[in-house]
Amino acid sequence: MKKFLTQAIDDVLDLIYPRICFCCQEETPTPGENTCLECRMQLPYTNIHKQRTNSFTERFLGRVPLHTGASYYHYKKGGLVRKLIYQLKYHGKKEIGVEIGRAYGRELIDTELYKDIDLIVPVPLHPQRKRTRGYNQSDMFAMGLSEAMGIPWKADALKRIKSTSTQTQKGKFERLANMDNVFKVKSESILRGKHILLVDDVLTTGATMEVCGNRLSEIRGAKVSMATIAMASQ
Ligand SMILES: [Zn+2]
Repeated sequence: MKKFLTQAIDDVLDLIYPRICFCCQEETPTPGENTCLECRMQLPYTNIHKQRTNSFTERFLGRVPLHTGASYYHYKKGGLVRKLIYQLKYHGKKEIGVEIGRAYGRELIDTELYKDIDLIVPVPLHPQRKRTRGYNQSDMFAMGLSEAMGIPWKADALKRIKSTSTQTQKGKFERLANMDNVFKVKSESILRGKHILLVDDVLTTGATMEVCGNRLSEIRGAKVSMATIAMASQ
């Protein structure tokens, strides 16, 4: 009976805290975390959120009128962050997104530039993809940020109308032009006059963030900032 109980407790704990580190898949995670201490020490933090203009905002220069923006980590091929994002997107480990959001949120709310944010808005996934995955990874990041920053988040402020994956046959230029009709603002009235933090998982070309950011900045009195879990170098 005692053995059974111990096993049952272990099973429950496994659901809450993983037995192996999500990054290296080898070490035991720090209690209450998904990653081991060694991996956490190695994570490539960008530390750019304290500067209003930085390597993140530079990407959007002349493309989106941004208040500020930052990524928590650098995104490198074969790196630990890539493994974390992979687990978050394709292995159902949505708590990774929430946990990273909480950690980054604690840093952002300590930074003057992010103190007047009114609302966090995640980049939406196409409904069909969301159904297959079961969740939007950006929602998970937004949820963690919201919790740590004490700022509300709204999943359906933006709406994705078309799936970009159906456009892969088209040329790059045509695809970019097409991106313009992919996203729509759904709840304009609650966004008016607000400082909005637009969030996504990884910044790569920035095309998605550009379109979403522009839709939001067109709203009367709106101020837009951005945050992502990671950013790929160009
Ligand atoms: Zn590890």
